[in-house]
Amino acid sequence: MRQADLQVGHEYAFPTHEPYNAAPTAARVRVVSVDGDDKVTVKVVAPGKEPPANAWRARPVKRNEQRQVATRDIACPWHEWTDRAASIGAEREARVAEQRARHEDYERRRADRLVVDEGRALPERYDEEYFDEETDAEERVELRKAYIKARGLGQYVTVDELDPLLVDLPVPVLRDILAADRHGRPGRAGTVASTFPRAAELLDVARIASRDRSGRVRGDIPQPGRLLGETDVAFVNALLEDVAASGGELVLPPVPTLPNWVDEQERDMAPVFGWLRLAVGDTSGESLHSPGCRSVRSRPVLLTDHLPWWRVMLEDGRRLCGICGGPAVRDLVALAGFVAAVDVWRDRERSRIERWQQAAFYRLLSATAYARAEALEPDITLAWRIVASLNENAPAKDGWAAYAVVAATKWNGLYEELERLAPPQREAARALAHGRLTRVENALPSSQRPVPLPRTADVAVLRKRYEHLKKRLEETVPQLDRLLFTLPGAY
Ligand SMILES: [Zn+2]
Repeated sequence: MRQADLQVGHEYAFPTHEPYNAAPTAARVRVVSVDGDDKVTVKVVAPGKEPPANAWRARPVKRNEQRQVATRDIACPWHEWTDRAASIGAEREARVAEQRARHEDYERRRADRLVVDEGRALPERYDEEYFDEETDAEERVELRKAYIKARGLGQYVTVDELDPLLVDLPVPVLRDILAADRHGRPGRAGTVASTFPRAAELLDVARIASRDRSGRVRGDIPQPGRLLGETDVAFVNALLEDVAASGGELVLPPVPTLPNWVDEQERDMAPVFGWLRLAVGDTSGESLHSPGCRSVRSRPVLLTDHLPWWRVMLEDGRRLCGICGGPAVRDLVALAGFVAAVDVWRDRERSRIERWQQAAFYRLLSATAYARAEALEPDITLAWRIVASLNENAPAKDGWAAYAVVAATKWNGLYEELERLAPPQREAARALAHGRLTRVENALPSSQRPVPLPRTADVAVLRKRYEHLKKRLEETVPQLDRLLFTLPGAY
């Protein structure tokens, strides 16, 4: 109070303790003298409730004690004190209760971030506002433990082995992936267990495919055609549109246009996913395998050779192993993140793409770029150039006769076919063969290009050129004959 408002002989409240969470306590004092300089001398009439020992900024007093105090330390006339103390107390209690509730809510949400719950409704939002490196690292360790529990792995894996799996995606996304049934049973609609089975399976496959305890990989690593479908294509297209809508452009690794005889479903996937890297199991045989195939002894998936998917699309189906189905997805962890993003998008009625979903696709692109960098593979390869070039003006039905021109031997019966052709037809076939061979030669780097075939080159010259090219490109381009001449069954 101010000195002017205090009167000798009147009684006032002199606060003795101000607890942060309850009403303050005060002594009842009587002013004995007004001393000037904002000081008064008071006598304690009643000391009030004694403050707890060592209480912060407490001012304990004794009955009948007389002391000089600063006028600002006197709260109010004594008759006002009860009401005043009560209202301050109520305010403090409310504030403390609110703080406690906020803290409890924070703790609950924090704990919930790691609770694997198959019945959880797919969250509205997975993007995170706050990121703290230390908390994130701790949470991922907890996730690894949750993974072992959710998959019933017990002593079969160590927490460290799971380190490379539970990366990149936001913690709540990984938590919900773990909620997918470990035996692949579908979850209840609307729950995370029904959204994430694809991602969950891929993570499990990634874990198995990267193990190298006995130098042997086991696991049914999926082919991309089995795994990816229309929704995945739609997601990427939606993402590309989003980028375009903001004035930018996302350039996918280039994929050549493939000939019509490639499986139609695969051909539809090629422009969007043809660049995906496929791992090829180690083998000395003719067939192409997945690194997880039980008929080969291969290195782990990330250590074997790899090819873009479009290159495998061009292979003769008979070269793909009948047991494993042929080369399989290489960057399994990145792909698990991608399919998680797609499946969340699908289950939210394709409404919007969050940051983490966009990032998941960029990571797949970056895993691909990384793999290509390792293999020193440029954006456009020689195989790419030849395939793209031969796909232009592909000869359809007429190709067979041209093929007969270059491939006829005494033993394969093609001579007789040629004999049956009328001279103009035979000349047309020769000219077509000439055109197609020239086209391949023009796609070669200039240093490797043979002298141009004369326009009138005869059949013997063409055959020699054909043999030479076939040998030269044996390892580079699959099914060169088919690309050159569009052989039967292919149109
Ligand atoms: Zn195989």
